[in-house]
Amino acid sequence: MSSVSDFSKFLQTPINQGLSQDEISERSSIFGKNTLKEKKKKPAWKQFLGQFQDFMILILLSAALISGVAGDLTDSIIILIIVVLNAVMGFVQEYRAEKALESLKKMSEVQSQVRRSGQTSQIPSSDLVPGDIILLEAGNMIPADIQLLEAFAVKVDEASLTGESIPVEKTASQSIETHSDINSTHQVFKGTVLTNGRAVGIVLRTGMDTQLGKIADLLQNTRPETPLQNRMKKFSKVISYLILLICLILFGMGILRGEEPLPLLLVTVSLAVAAIPEALPALITIALSLGAARLAKKEALIRKLPAVESLGSITYICSDKTGTLTKNEMTVVRESKSEIENYSPDFSNLHLAMALNHDIKSGENGQLAGEATELALVHYFIKKEGKEKLAQIQIELPRIGEIPFDSERKRMSTFHSFGGKVLILCKGATESIIQILKPQTDIQGINSDSKKWASEGERVLAFAAKIIDRLPGEKDWTDLEADLDYLGIAGMIDPPREEVKAAIEECKTAGIKPVMITGDHPETAKAIAKEVGILEENDQVLTGKELLELDDEKFEKQVENIAVYARVAPDQKLRIVKALQKKGHYVAMTGDGVNDAPSLRASTIGVAMGITGTDVSKEAAHMILLDDNFATIVRAIHEGRRIFDNIRKFIKYIMTCNGAEIWTIAMAPILGLPIPLLPIHILWINLVTDGVPALALAGERPEKDIMNRPPRPPQQSLFADGVGIHIIWVGILMAGVTLFTQYWAIKNDWHWQTMVFTVLAFSQLGHVMAVRSDRTFLFRQGLLSNAPLLLSVFVTLLLQLMVIYLPFFNELFHTEPLNLTELIYCAGMGLVVFHAVEIEKWVKKLWQKPSKID
Ligand code: ATP
Repeated sequence: MSSVSDFSKFLQTPINQGLSQDEISERSSIFGKNTLKEKKKKPAWKQFLGQFQDFMILILLSAALISGVAGDLTDSIIILIIVVLNAVMGFVQEYRAEKALESLKKMSEVQSQVRRSGQTSQIPSSDLVPGDIILLEAGNMIPADIQLLEAFAVKVDEASLTGESIPVEKTASQSIETHSDINSTHQVFKGTVLTNGRAVGIVLRTGMDTQLGKIADLLQNTRPETPLQNRMKKFSKVISYLILLICLILFGMGILRGEEPLPLLLVTVSLAVAAIPEALPALITIALSLGAARLAKKEALIRKLPAVESLGSITYICSDKTGTLTKNEMTVVRESKSEIENYSPDFSNLHLAMALNHDIKSGENGQLAGEATELALVHYFIKKEGKEKLAQIQIELPRIGEIPFDSERKRMSTFHSFGGKVLILCKGATESIIQILKPQTDIQGINSDSKKWASEGERVLAFAAKIIDRLPGEKDWTDLEADLDYLGIAGMIDPPREEVKAAIEECKTAGIKPVMITGDHPETAKAIAKEVGILEENDQVLTGKELLELDDEKFEKQVENIAVYARVAPDQKLRIVKALQKKGHYVAMTGDGVNDAPSLRASTIGVAMGITGTDVSKEAAHMILLDDNFATIVRAIHEGRRIFDNIRKFIKYIMTCNGAEIWTIAMAPILGLPIPLLPIHILWINLVTDGVPALALAGERPEKDIMNRPPRPPQQSLFADGVGIHIIWVGILMAGVTLFTQYWAIKNDWHWQTMVFTVLAFSQLGHVMAVRSDRTFLFRQGLLSNAPLLLSVFVTLLLQLMVIYLPFFNELFHTEPLNLTELIYCAGMGLVVFHAVEIEKWVKKLWQKPSKID
């Protein structure tokens, strides 16, 4: 970093212009990215070598080495090759999971609004450089250490830096402080949050040079594991010990039977390597992270991986109204003016307030940009009075101060120079404005108009004004919001999104209750909730005020009957989440503002808005809706259920196959048969049948009834719903078919070992096809509906035929070419398991309701 005297030259950026492209490139090369350094990641080769760290693999390699030295070197080499292939596969899987997660992280990177070369634009915060002019508003995470050059009512929550949780006020100063100084009241710091107001600032320091960079340790790359990953890891451990024990017993029994120790050791160790489901945790990570990548394509960006898993358990969706259930395209449809004398000869006071009291900006191409409510008012003004008048009045009555809108106060005020005096304009929710009107105003009349319009689904805003002599010097101008003249009201509509009605219907069949939470008037909320289907006959509407009067116990009693919350303050959302959770519900809660963060964090899935959401809400959320659309949440739940189903399918598949291998090897001596398979056969089956087909199962399409069944309780075992039983009985059947083949082939003097090997491989392929659906028969699903799986089965089949018929492989795998009868026999036996699992679906059909199966 440059010395301070040097450094000040970087901080002379003209505020209206910002940095030029050349300056930005130069500074990027001097100061680098505006990020905190992360701990170095493991290099790829280390990750690859890590695959061999598995204890059993080491034993297998040593056993192979010993047996190689003792005699059969080809066997050892083949084992080595298979183990390396296994490691490659494990590595590729881990690598893919890692990449998918990284790209997700990139997509959710925070953006900053900057002024560069005279234009305002959004850039990734990591591209900020010292000297950048940055625009900040309530809800922004401060992306660097910044000095404020202009500030309106700015408050900053610095808890992340200082531990102090009460927001501190910050003011602007034009004289640049080159040092980033934690005690300065003109500076805001990376990692803190702008909770209130609006500001323009200049970036002082970035990345590791910021106050946060100085105190932050290197960021850890570790990600918390999802409950499923956690459970799977634990399960894998237990099952590994169990398998080791079984293999030890098999070895001991073999020795007692008088088998040769070294080949026996190789068989049992190979069996342990094949049967231990070491790939399962990695496969689950892949399924979750690929699922997350697919969700991102469907406009739902996952920020925390466990969310993918919990999507399937959601029982409540608490959604904002504006923009999520509705289009956020407001249009003023009517107005009612008061009788007082107009300030301007050109137009009514109501129109004057619409033209001046807002934060709408004119973008690069003259397009107006800003919040939907205010856009509607400005567009309405333009429609009624013309664009020129808007520009003219904004120049004539320039803004000299403001009290920004916040959803707690539900109003905003702007102050304008007005012929040597000051004009105060105020707009907001009717209840909020009537509190600051002159006492003699006809409040009842205003209220009744307002309520009537609201009950027709309109958002109603009231306007007020007054003229004062001058603006006091102190910053707190809220006292000025009193004794105002009433100007009128405007009613605007914001139609529901078209797809929302169907999405709400889908929620209901899926056992999920949709709830509307809005800052809007109860009548407006009710009208819209009815229209989209959220509010039904026995449902209740509760206002924020009523909620305040209920204690927790009473509230919990009613919470399940309430479908609409109106005029609630954002901090009340936390109470709603907690009450629902107390009732055993899993809640998805949407939010976009600064104060939504606690409820987003507390809910099972906090959902932030990608377009209108603040940085703080996005940071707190588990999932971000890139299109702000309610229907996207429902789509994500659909996808989450599918991902979970598919995880269960490949667990079912892998565990059954591994079980079958153990049953086969363990039962053969008991039935008086020789050891059925060679170590290479076991490892081969594990490699080709477990890996690719299992992964392809993760891409299986959703079951038909996926949104017709209730949510899955998150604590439910993976082996519930008959999965555990399936693993046991199909495993035994597969082993039975294989051992019968061995017995029959030996009896008929066929090539028994090659046949045993082939029947086991074929049975597993048959199983993977049948296990694709829990309920639908394969012929209904269609062979081609999971093309990658079909392809992997086909390739595995070819490989198996290669191992049987190519002389080169015959030698390596100790196989012999089968004649036609033998091959047909193997194919027939291989289909037994497939048919048995299809029959299982049919039996389930008899047991369950007919609608549950096709
Ligand atoms: P929802 O909670 O359904 O998403 P919302 O987020 O728009 O609605 P708030 O932003 O909390 O709700 O607004 C609450 C009320 O404040 C609105 O009903 C409206 O009356 C008023 N209001 C909204 N925007 C403004 C604004 N820019 N200026 C003044 N008042 C506003």
